[in-house]
Amino acid sequence: MTYDDVARQFGVQRCAQCDGSYDHRIGAQDDAVIHWSDRVFTRAGLRNFLLLVADLSDDSQPKPAKWQRLWEHNVWASSVARKELHITIPTRLSAADRAYVWWHIQSATDVPAAARAWARPRKDTDI
Ligand SMILES: [Zn+2]
Repeated sequence: MTYDDVARQFGVQRCAQCDGSYDHRIGAQDDAVIHWSDRVFTRAGLRNFLLLVADLSDDSQPKPAKWQRLWEHNVWASSVARKELHITIPTRLSAADRAYVWWHIQSATDVPAAARAWARPRKDTDI
């Protein structure tokens, strides 16, 4: 599998050639295009790529809080990786995002129980 395969499957375009104003190593999305350099296909890379696809596809207005988008996009990425690509994204790869969400929901209102469950700090054995 390649990132082009993933792009095709999710109906997004990778930039063919652009002015290089994006960091293609980290990845970026803008105007229906994903800026992403060719590299070895890994689960971590797949997760980051799918998070860009999620950002690209998220046209919700007004934009939800960042913690909510992080939660929703991470859950979506894991879910489609498993169901459509048959690849499991290890939980540890979302540890930083879960920590961010956990921190921010402490002072938020109307936090879905599923978001709390997803972000709750886990024991090492869960990772
Ligand atoms: Zn580009």
